[in-house]
Amino acid sequence: MISISGDRPTGSLHMGHFFGSLINRVAFQDLYTQFLIIADNQVSLQERLNVRTSIKNILIDYFSVGLDFRKNNIFLQSLIPELSVLAQFLSNFLDLNKLKRVPSIKFLLKRNKNICFNSFCFPVYQSSDILLFGARYVPVGLDQSALIELTNVIVRNVNRYFKRTIFNKCIPVFGASVPGIFGYEKMSKSLGNVIPLYCDDATLMSILAKIKTDDTRITVLSPGSYSCSVVIKYLELFMEANEFLKLKMQYLSGLVSDGFTKKLLFNYLREFYSYTLSRRNMLFESGIDLFAYLIDSSNYVRRIAIANLNKIRRLTGIYF
Ligand code: ATP
Ligand code: MG
Repeated sequence: MISISGDRPTGSLHMGHFFGSLINRVAFQDLYTQFLIIADNQVSLQERLNVRTSIKNILIDYFSVGLDFRKNNIFLQSLIPELSVLAQFLSNFLDLNKLKRVPSIKFLLKRNKNICFNSFCFPVYQSSDILLFGARYVPVGLDQSALIELTNVIVRNVNRYFKRTIFNKCIPVFGASVPGIFGYEKMSKSLGNVIPLYCDDATLMSILAKIKTDDTRITVLSPGSYSCSVVIKYLELFMEANEFLKLKMQYLSGLVSDGFTKKLLFNYLREFYSYTLSRRNMLFESGIDLFAYLIDSSNYVRRIAIANLNKIRRLTGIYF
């Protein structure tokens, strides 16, 4: 079985990525043949800022959370032109109205009326990433659900057109949906509301100071509301279910203060950081040239891409 997932090089990864997707990728690297795509073609020219640094940071972040470079086929999207060739072919099988209804496209259009075509058609490219490698599982965040559905619409349309199975449907494997530190949007690189995968104590303290808690509480120990405290939502991600339930009940009945929950979160994050820091140090001490590794690994993936594209051409009888 094959799994695929990836990230746009628009900054460093964060705890949203960890609980939304990386955590499942770490598990899948031992179960499946896993491809990890650094999707640089999906960064439009308007968004392009320090892409090279972001690529390097993503590789460091991957390693720091436990992804092993030898257990995964990590590659740079722009080094695999076959992905664009297949995407153009797949674009025959998706009508424009469906694309316009994708929530992330709607969101982009709402924020900026003049988005470029690259930002508009990226779901087709994402489908190509999944279908070229024949991935069965796609460990992603819940925000990607409509995009995976769209991939499966393309699969259905292609198979119907050719009256045979050219592609198999893929299955999304969703992690948790992690809110940003201010509470009202998802944690996202480009929104500046993130908890990083590693930082020093002073930075962590300043982030914790900004995290939204229940500001409707009149005194420190007034009953708290679970849905108002982002700290409680983060704690839920770290704690054992029954331990969390106990804490939640205490919070709801005003037995614990927001200061206490923040201290608890600080401890969980520090423990997490001691792991990511040790992995980061291990990587730096190895002296690996990250770009040389990425090019090597992408060359290996390209050979698979060429063979797979040829197989699709043979199956469809269309030499696109
Ligand atoms: P950008 O702001 O540039 O879009 P991003 O932080 O949203 O960046 P992406 O590269 O778009 O990150 O997403 C990579 C993967 O991480 C996707 O599978 C996405 O679902 C997941 N992911 C990103 N943010 C979160 C989050 N807050 N909660 C859960 N999953 C997330
Ligand atoms: Mg995103």
